[in-house]
Amino acid sequence: MNDAASLDQATPAVEPCDLLLSGGTVITVDESRRVIDEGAIAITGDRIAWVGARADLPAALEAGTTIDCSGKLLMPGMVDGHSHLFQTLGRGLGDGLSLVPWLRQFMFPYAGAITKEIAVAGARLGALQAALSGTTMVVDNHYSPTDTETTLAIADGIAATGIRGAVARGIFGEMNPGAELMGVDPGLFRYTAREELDITAECMAERPKGSLVEVWPCPENIVYVTPELIAASAELAVANGVRWHMHCSESADEIAFFEELQPQRPVAWLDAEGILTEATTLAHAIWLDDDEVAAMGRTRATAVHNPVSNQYLASGVLRLAELQESGANVALGSDGIAVAGQDMIEAMKAGTLMHRVARLDPTATTVEQFIELATLGGAAMAGHGAGSLSPGRAADVVVLDLDSVRHSPFSRPAASVVHSGRSGDVDTAVVAGEVIVRGGRSTKVDEAEVKAKAEEAARALFADADLGGLTIDWQGFEHE
Ligand SMILES: [Zn+2]
Repeated sequence: MNDAASLDQATPAVEPCDLLLSGGTVITVDESRRVIDEGAIAITGDRIAWVGARADLPAALEAGTTIDCSGKLLMPGMVDGHSHLFQTLGRGLGDGLSLVPWLRQFMFPYAGAITKEIAVAGARLGALQAALSGTTMVVDNHYSPTDTETTLAIADGIAATGIRGAVARGIFGEMNPGAELMGVDPGLFRYTAREELDITAECMAERPKGSLVEVWPCPENIVYVTPELIAASAELAVANGVRWHMHCSESADEIAFFEELQPQRPVAWLDAEGILTEATTLAHAIWLDDDEVAAMGRTRATAVHNPVSNQYLASGVLRLAELQESGANVALGSDGIAVAGQDMIEAMKAGTLMHRVARLDPTATTVEQFIELATLGGAAMAGHGAGSLSPGRAADVVVLDLDSVRHSPFSRPAASVVHSGRSGDVDTAVVAGEVIVRGGRSTKVDEAEVKAKAEEAARALFADADLGGLTIDWQGFEHE
């Protein structure tokens, strides 16, 4: 976002390009928010070289590869600003619980029992699902197990699908009073604070800033990680030029717990400590008072809005309008399939609608606003230089096939994507100039192998963590 103006004004390159996406409607999300009928996008290396109407293509431009996108819709790749890919095996379980019981009855046992092999199998499946649904960058909060080998294997699993990522390595440290209040499984507090920082630094050195998949520090939650370890994690991120991530102010319960530990509210405390900065990316940030919203804006911190998760767990409604007015960056996230997420098209629709009903006002959101959150907001959060189809930007593009009975008539592109779009509409995805999805299939991994390994891992995990009871539909019903 910061350098958007200069990038958009870069002189278009007219020499031969590597990849030409030709035809189709282009939602650029560029400086002037052009929507181009019968457009074309030329890509050279990992950058966008030219965007415009196909009829205006420079004569000198010859493409190595051309993909005919007639009848399709092209938009910037979407950034999933908050997910938990290792939780993919928990699809459908834990339905009907609010956050704290969801954690205690479902996710803490799941995370406590999961092994490296099972976590990696789940993350590979989650990353593949993300890639196939138009996500070109995912912030993956991975928090079990978090040894160096597993953390880097998760990063490799994401990279193998061709999408960008940041493995936000979950940091717990020593057991503490906040963890007792939240009822966190003591088994998740595996390392000392020093060990947590050392392992995170080791992983960051392997996947530093600028890698396709980076590693970021992620003190797991503002309630159950000690203040000292949160501050040290933020410092580690800043020293390495990357962002840091944390669950913060997701449920009203957490605010009450935090206030038992500290005389301040969570975001007010981060601000007072001087660690609320542009590098701070907070998952949820729902329960903020006016001063905390102002602090988010003043520091240009990021709030990651997870509308599907927030409705699934009935956590609350982000103060979206106030945060955007304050100058805070807002990105969009899925929070993973264990809370019915993982699909950014669905997240855009859920987000657009939830604020309208919360305010009883159909003008409370727009479809364009949610496309911007999923693209520009995510890019500003991730710092990866994509988010807009403009010359000079990173070449992350998604092509949706909207030439179908379900999408007919196709009159208003942005509204069609948000309100009628489905992840299954994704035909092609390009990340850093490479075609990673074509004809709705991964060009990078063996889908059947990823699926089979994940299903085998799920069976093992449900037995180990004794989660079989959560797989029953009509729970409490007298089944014959
Ligand atoms: Zn989360």
